[in-house]
Amino acid sequence: ELTDVTELLLSRIRDVPDYPVPGVTFKDITPLLADPVAFAALTDALADFSVRHGATKIVGLEARGFILGAPVALRAGLGFIPVRKAGKLPGATLRQSYDLEYGSAEIEVHAEDLAADDRVMVIDDVLATGGTAEASLELIRRSGAQVAGVAVLMELGFLEGRRKLVQALDGAPLEAL
Ligand code: AMP
Repeated sequence: ELTDVTELLLSRIRDVPDYPVPGVTFKDITPLLADPVAFAALTDALADFSVRHGATKIVGLEARGFILGAPVALRAGLGFIPVRKAGKLPGATLRQSYDLEYGSAEIEVHAEDLAADDRVMVIDDVLATGGTAEASLELIRRSGAQVAGVAVLMELGFLEGRRKLVQALDGAPLEAL
C-alpha cells in the first residue's frame, strides 16, 4: 500500500525507454524537481530518515545526488559533502575505483571533509547495481568515519543493488522511498 507522499513522488518520475542505450529505462526525476511540493516532500523524507539514523554529515553522489543531497543537508541542519567523479576536487582526496558493465569508474572525496567521529548518510536518486553507492561507502570507511546509511528516492530492485550493499552497510539501513 502506497502513502500519499509515495504516490506523489511516483507520479513525478518519468520513465524514458531506451535511454541512454537500448534496453535501459531511464528514471527521469526532472518533473519531480520542477514541482516544489514534490521536491519538498522528497527533501523532508530524506532529511527525516537521516536525522532519525543519527547522521552528522550528508554525502551526495555526483550529479543528481548533489541536487537532492544539498537541500536535505540544509533541512537536517547538517553539512554537505560532495563525492565527485575523479579529477574534479582540488584538495587532497581519497579515491575509489569500481567496476562498471564495461570498464571501471573512479570517485573521490576531500579527505579532510570526513572525520572519525562523523556518521555519514549517502544520498542519491537511483540505486541501480549499487556499484556507485558501494564505492562511496568504501570511501567513508577508509576515511575512518562511520556509515549512518544510504537513502535514495528509488531502487531498481531487479538489479539487486541492495544485496550488493549488504557487506559495505555492515548493518546500517538502506532506505528507498
Ligand atoms: P549504480 O552504480 O549502478 O547503482 O548506478 C547508480 C547511478 O547511476 C546513480 O547515480 C543513478 O543516478 C544512475 N542510474 C543508474 N541507472 C539509472 C536509471 N535507470 N535511471 C536513472 N539513473 C540511473
